[in-house]
Amino acid sequence: MTFLFNSDARRGAVFADAFAKELPDIPFAIDAGTVDPDTVRYLITWTVPENLTRYRNLEVLFSIGAGVDQFRLEAVPARVKIVRMVEESIVRMIQEYVTLAVLALHRNLPIYLAQQRAGEWRDVPQLQAASRRVGVLGLGQLGQAVVDRLKPFGFPLAGWSRSPRGIEGVTCHHGETGLEQMLAASDILVCLLPLTKHTRGLLNADLFAKLPKNAALVHTGRGPQLDHEALVAALDSNHLSAAMIDVTDPEPLPGGHPFWSHPKIILTPHVASIAEPATAARVVIDNIRRHRIGLDPIGLVDRTRGY
Ligand code: NAP
Repeated sequence: MTFLFNSDARRGAVFADAFAKELPDIPFAIDAGTVDPDTVRYLITWTVPENLTRYRNLEVLFSIGAGVDQFRLEAVPARVKIVRMVEESIVRMIQEYVTLAVLALHRNLPIYLAQQRAGEWRDVPQLQAASRRVGVLGLGQLGQAVVDRLKPFGFPLAGWSRSPRGIEGVTCHHGETGLEQMLAASDILVCLLPLTKHTRGLLNADLFAKLPKNAALVHTGRGPQLDHEALVAALDSNHLSAAMIDVTDPEPLPGGHPFWSHPKIILTPHVASIAEPATAARVVIDNIRRHRIGLDPIGLVDRTRGY
């Protein structure tokens, strides 16, 4: 029985150490070429390797990241459990990033950055937090952690999920009607949805039109959820005021793309949240222990939902 690690060497070394200490009975391999494919029971990777079917005894496929949209789920045999990364650093870092973004947009930072570049000293009217409504698309592990971190600032908070949720201090919406209600009352919209066939292209011209004038966007979901042209059009027509974007399609963003130089966009290169190797290794080890005693791993993906 082998655990095959298919990602960068730096993280691989941390995982190898942790496995040697915690699961010494499971041989750990970094180089797929050195292992007998029939022995591979566990595989961690960012994308599904082309030759996945050669691992005939694979039991669990782990994603090294928080999402599994980069996997072609249909290419993974039904008997294999697919597990996303549910880890404390990812949660903490997304809380930091979204708080940074919401405060930057709330305090008009894109305007002041543009004015600084133009050598212009001019204040703009500032709303109080109690008058700036924040709506979060996705109330899962990360969406809930984010609304929790935003609570002390006093923003009126709302969230949207597929199934009904109840979170103290947060107006919870779900389904199509719920989305329209939340959009109409979101001055800052945060996207923390997984990429599925239902969320691909969701951040489009129709959705932007349903936001109040001068609303702003924080995009920390996945690139293909956002229609880039529609965002630029909504910003250029002054319907939306600004956006902070962490994920794009494609990544990296090609040279000359309007996001690079748009004065109303703050762009970061998909860094909102990254798993910390030591805690990620611990999470995977705990999940293998759970799997071995017949429990479902934490972060087990529901293939029918796609997340
Ligand atoms: P999660 O726990 O699975 O939660 C997903 C949430 O989205 C749930 O509330 C779910 O609704 C909702 N949802 C899914 N499909 C929906 C739909 N069609 N309509 C309405 N709501 C829908 O996932 P998570 O751990 O919070 O992570 C969310 C995503 O964040 C990841 O998939 C990834 O794309 C992104 N992410 C980005 C970064 C970054 O660095 N930029 C880092 C980590 C994660 P239910 O509650 O009804 O299930």
